[in-house]
Amino acid sequence: MVRFTVLASGSKGNASVVTGGQTRVLVDAGLSCRELFRRMKDAGEDPAALDAIVITHEHSDHVAGLAVTARKLGIPVYFTEGTHRAWMRWLQPRRQMTYKQWMEQCRQQAAAREAGDGAAETEEQEVALDAAAETPEAPDPTAEPKKAPAWLPAVEYFAPGTPFRIGDIAVSPFTIPHDAADPVGFVFEAEGARLAVATDLGYMPPNVKEQLKSLDLLMLESNHDLDMLRDGPYPWSVKQRVLSRVGHLSNDAASGFLEQEYDGQATYVILGHLSESNNLPELARVAAERALASHASLLANRLLLAEQHTPLETICF
Ligand SMILES: [Zn+2]
Ligand SMILES: [Zn+2]
Repeated sequence: MVRFTVLASGSKGNASVVTGGQTRVLVDAGLSCRELFRRMKDAGEDPAALDAIVITHEHSDHVAGLAVTARKLGIPVYFTEGTHRAWMRWLQPRRQMTYKQWMEQCRQQAAAREAGDGAAETEEQEVALDAAAETPEAPDPTAEPKKAPAWLPAVEYFAPGTPFRIGDIAVSPFTIPHDAADPVGFVFEAEGARLAVATDLGYMPPNVKEQLKSLDLLMLESNHDLDMLRDGPYPWSVKQRVLSRVGHLSNDAASGFLEQEYDGQATYVILGHLSESNNLPELARVAAERALASHASLLANRLLLAEQHTPLETICF
């Protein structure tokens, strides 16, 4: 049997569980480990039976509980290399120094040395070490757990566009337009069922539309109502970010895709990543229902709304 459970969806945390054959995979870990386990148990899924965690991107609403969960279960985490590096930088922030500042510091130290200041020598060595730390080289993920906040039991890299397999589940990661290092959506296939997760995307580019065909389940972002966002509480800069082509998909954009380009194959369409500030579930639902009702062939699609605070009923195939 193939099962899909949304544990949480929205800007305060995202996580889902895909089960196929003997394999269970957690998709994102954007809640605390304790809350993830609690919700899994509520949904009838055993956390100890998880085989792996796959990560869409490094934003905190997708990785907040990642390190603790992976360590507690001793399971591998699948990232793109760019996402893994960005996640490690997020956990181990380093003092930022621009090249210009570094040059200026070197110049001052050279001047101090010229002036015969003996202390400058050791200070320069420290700066050299610091400068090396500023390079994109990531910290060693295999370092001791207590010393490295980003330590994980095992890390596996995948590349967008290159399918891979975790046990009985085939995973196809695809690039999504979003303001993260290397964000992806996923298509999961097991026992003949195809499930897609496509949230956190600024718009629907052709490669994403291509992936969202012949699905049995589609989880699609329906983040905001355009009017609510425009009139809502967010500062202008944040509004611009959400609206941008690397922000989030509006109700209109999601329903536009469903109406005009979606093939209608999925038994279930789940609207996800709804904003609590700039959307109402009813607005998202009405927009999607109207889109699905515009084609008789889409009326068989069951529409569900993923929630932030409670798991969605488990869907089985
Ligand atoms: Zn998100
Ligand atoms: Zn994001």
